[in-house]
Amino acid sequence: MPRHTRALIDASALQHNYRLAAQQASPAQAMAVVKADGYGHGLLNVLSALDDQVPCYAVATVEEGVSIRQWGSRHPVVLLEGTHDPEDWALCVRHQLQPVLHSPHQIDQLAAFTRQNPAHPGITLWLKCNTGMNRLGFAPAEIPPVIEQLQALPEVTLLGLMTHFARADDLDNAMTARQNAEISVLARRYPHLSISTGNSAAHYHHNDLFHWTRPGIMLYGGSPLLSARGPALGLQPAMQLLSRIIAVRALSPGDSVGYGASWTASTPGRMGIVEIGYGDGYPRHAPSGTPVAVGGQRVPLIGRVSMDMLAVDLTTVPGLGVGAPVELWGQTVSVDEVAEWAGTISYALLTGVLPRVPRLPA
Ligand SMILES: *Cc1c(COP(=O)(O)O)cnc(C)c1O
Repeated sequence: MPRHTRALIDASALQHNYRLAAQQASPAQAMAVVKADGYGHGLLNVLSALDDQVPCYAVATVEEGVSIRQWGSRHPVVLLEGTHDPEDWALCVRHQLQPVLHSPHQIDQLAAFTRQNPAHPGITLWLKCNTGMNRLGFAPAEIPPVIEQLQALPEVTLLGLMTHFARADDLDNAMTARQNAEISVLARRYPHLSISTGNSAAHYHHNDLFHWTRPGIMLYGGSPLLSARGPALGLQPAMQLLSRIIAVRALSPGDSVGYGASWTASTPGRMGIVEIGYGDGYPRHAPSGTPVAVGGQRVPLIGRVSMDMLAVDLTTVPGLGVGAPVELWGQTVSVDEVAEWAGTISYALLTGVLPRVPRLPA
């Protein structure tokens, strides 16, 4: 019998969420961000669901871009962190990947590549402009000389300018508008370039979205905003993390549960053991009280999460016992809610589901 612990991936939820993102972005277009194995959903599951619908993908690494080509998609693929090593340029050319350049060493490597490969068939790229995130990118004032440098390179096409917001998850924060104003100056100066400013959260601001948005988390049903969970934004969960009850025991007042005896029964009750733990990617920091759905009913997690198991209080659901289906997150309990309890974000939970958990079509 295969283990029941699994992640069901819902292609129709991915399609619904992408449609919503595309509508919000319009007249800008939305490139689907599928880095980190499609935010933990399995890159190939995500590509099969979305390839007919999306005009462009974005990933973090060259390897992820090559995986998209090996799967067979012909859409443009943007490398959000650009290239790192000189060899990456040959891969970008061979697989038609569009790196986002953010540092002078990348331009030096590109210049060397074009010198050594004068007959290369062409490279299309983006430039990253740092407007306040202070992670990657050239300062706005550095952009014009960099553009001149690129124009001198044969068969190199600069497609656009990209920036990234630091506080777009907070709709009340003025920083997003300030960053948008900075990139707008460059957008006016270079009207022939595509401009891409924001991630999922940017869709919920009143800024000009220019030409391309870069939604990630919302495609998977997680909320990009601090102020709302995914379902409240009309997003559908693309992953349901499922398991089952493998043991049940009665509890007497004073009985503690699990490592560290961190939870103690105060009344007579009944608990169940679920076949999933931090060795599967369920967060060890989820405290007692974190909601878990057993047979569709919400019950609290009790005690510490172990590597392969966790405990739930079944006192309020007397009809449910060994074999009862368990949803850790998905439809009854949103991944955003579990993330709040565990002091993290849906991104970390979804990308943190470990390879031991098979991803299966819903
Ligand atoms: C990951 C990433 C995104 C997607 O962000 P979400 O918050 O998941 O929508 C967009 N742009 C860049 C540069 C990224 O690294």
